[in-house]
Amino acid sequence: EARDVSKHFTVRGPLGRTSVVRAVEDATVRLRPGQILALVGESGSGKTTLARMLARFHEPTQGEILLRGEPVTGSRRAQRAYHSEVQLIFQDPFGALNPLHRVRYNLDRALRLHQPHLTAAGREQRMTELLERVSLTPAAEFAAKFPHELSGGQRQRVVIARALAVEPKVLLGDEPISMLDVSIRLEMLNLLQRLRTEDGLALLYITHDIAGARYLCDEIAVMYAGQMVESGPKEEVISSPQHPYTKLLIESSPDPERGVGDRDELFAGADELGEPPSLIDPPTGCRFHPRCPFAMPECATEAPPRTELGDGHWATCWLHVKGRAGELAETTHAA
Ligand code: SF4
Repeated sequence: EARDVSKHFTVRGPLGRTSVVRAVEDATVRLRPGQILALVGESGSGKTTLARMLARFHEPTQGEILLRGEPVTGSRRAQRAYHSEVQLIFQDPFGALNPLHRVRYNLDRALRLHQPHLTAAGREQRMTELLERVSLTPAAEFAAKFPHELSGGQRQRVVIARALAVEPKVLLGDEPISMLDVSIRLEMLNLLQRLRTEDGLALLYITHDIAGARYLCDEIAVMYAGQMVESGPKEEVISSPQHPYTKLLIESSPDPERGVGDRDELFAGADELGEPPSLIDPPTGCRFHPRCPFAMPECATEAPPRTELGDGHWATCWLHVKGRAGELAETTHAA
């Protein structure tokens, strides 16, 4: 769980002036065992920074990260224990593996580190199981390959096998399929789904692809300009979005009924909304107000409160406070 976490970065400009980038502001995410939660948003919405805080690669500026309700401390021992339960899968399978070493070495290293009780023979057997688990068979053949001898999809499978070597309870997937060929994205989504079903893994699936999120996930959380703006069960969020940004994101995405992975534009829907605002000097009030077709005067000055809508569905928008939420369902906007 990330509870009310914020992350601010200080950056230095060309003339030596420093600025603060408010990458994430007061975000809360909770993942239950066996749950798949999609964190959806455009590039620059803060979702990767939030994942990196959850992976303990960034320390939150405010707020805390908890595992089973207990805050995770910064001690080396606590970090190692945390990483034996929570693993991050990066977007880029090309950079995630050491190119100088064979798959065998990449997996064996993780096993040595996190499963020190295993003998050499035990590690070899585990490695075979892991490679078979991610459908890289014959395992011995793939174990002997260098990363450059593998396709993008095969490399990402090795990355997933390496994460599984740790026997984690939680996987944080930061756009894990976005750099893969369209033809194998569906296969990868099915693999992630299988890991949840068979191992009870919890997965935070970070994406800007609503169709993929709908295919894979139980719940969807939407981020805009560093803030969470809506969260809830996926069918509710997709069929009845309660924040104008979610609504525009869905309307600008290709129809999910056409399937996952069948078009390149599947991942382009969010881009049609234009650039998100700067996080150095974000808009006051509701950060979406400069682009919101429903904006009211108060939207520019006061941040909207969170409105609980039942069944774990909530949104932060003045329309709910002002009794105007019905307008969302009545209006369709071309993005
Ligand atoms: Fe639009 Fe106002 Fe709602 Fe923000 S609070 S999404 S500007 S209506």
